[in-house]
Amino acid sequence: MLTWKDVINFSVNGNPTPNTRVEKSNAEWKSQLSSEQYRITRQKSTEAPHSGAHCSTLEAGKYNCVCCHAPLFDSTIKFESSSGWPSFTQPIKPNAIKYEKDTAFGMVRVEVMCNTCDSHLGHVFPDGPEPSGLRYCVNSESLILEKEINEQ
Ligand SMILES: [Zn+2]
Repeated sequence: MLTWKDVINFSVNGNPTPNTRVEKSNAEWKSQLSSEQYRITRQKSTEAPHSGAHCSTLEAGKYNCVCCHAPLFDSTIKFESSSGWPSFTQPIKPNAIKYEKDTAFGMVRVEVMCNTCDSHLGHVFPDGPEPSGLRYCVNSESLILEKEINEQ
């Protein structure tokens, strides 16, 4: 399980190696994403709080990167944070997410990105629920929900 110490360590000393990499030009991303998805994931923007589709969904499934479809989070680690954005306590795998210190807007925060394609997801904060204490605060527009299919 990752903790705040691991997050700081990744952001200072380098990120875990992803299983695979997806690299595309801005024009290629633009042609495959909606303008809102492009603005958030490739230009590090933020959606308005409480606006996102996955804000309070509790459906079972995996939350994948909207750009490269790499699995990032799953519904078992999602929690209701009342922040207005989908919130998770852990990544689906330790190397799914990339961390970078973000000093924009006069704040020191840790930006979280897809480790496969560098898509901007949101930020991680050390005020999440135990045991990890982490709160990954992610834009809905950065995620697609792959619903769990119950085999009959
Ligand atoms: Zn991605």
